[in-house]
Amino acid sequence: MRTLITETQLSAGVSQLAHEIDTHYQGRPITVVAVLTGSVVLFADLIRRLSMPQRVGVIQASSYRGGTQAGELVIDAKMLIDVKNRDVLLVDDIFDTGATIAKLRKELLSMDAASVATAVLLRKSRADQHSRRPDFIAFEIPDEFVVGYGLDYLDMYRNLPYIAVLEPDEIAATAAEFG
Ligand code: 5GP
Ligand code: MG
Ligand code: MG
Repeated sequence: MRTLITETQLSAGVSQLAHEIDTHYQGRPITVVAVLTGSVVLFADLIRRLSMPQRVGVIQASSYRGGTQAGELVIDAKMLIDVKNRDVLLVDDIFDTGATIAKLRKELLSMDAASVATAVLLRKSRADQHSRRPDFIAFEIPDEFVVGYGLDYLDMYRNLPYIAVLEPDEIAATAAEFG
């Protein structure tokens, strides 16, 4: 495993992200929505650094279906609090193709959210991003498969306090042992 972003760098990046979000909302109350499960570590760190009044909710989006290639995207909003007429900040771990965030944004707007802004820890640089850029991004990274700080492979590695690249041989070894 190769460390891409250290714990110290993550802490500074999340503080900067919170600062940008605070500057944007100028103390206006927001509803912060975590995209489960990958954003939970970022979410816990981020909401404690934001200074406006906040309501906090969760929504689930799963597409990885146990692999490193995306499968069909499924949204589960059963646990979400009411977002009607609220300014929503959607928080996700990573923006890859952007399909997940685009679909979640549409879903929240269809629930009559007053506005939906998006914040992500990581944005991958790749050619086939069709969707709208996230409004707030902590780190731009190369197109490699990463784990840690909430991001998983087969639901493993979410607990790592840093972001690391999982090499192909480690992907195979993890699948053999935990798949
Ligand atoms: P998108 O819909 O933007 O293509 O993909 C977003 C979702 O795919 C993320 O929320 C995340 O769950 C998953 N994903 C994309 N790239 C990576 C990666 O490098 N590592 C991990 N662990 N998940 C990823
Ligand atoms: Mg995700
Ligand atoms: Mg995942």
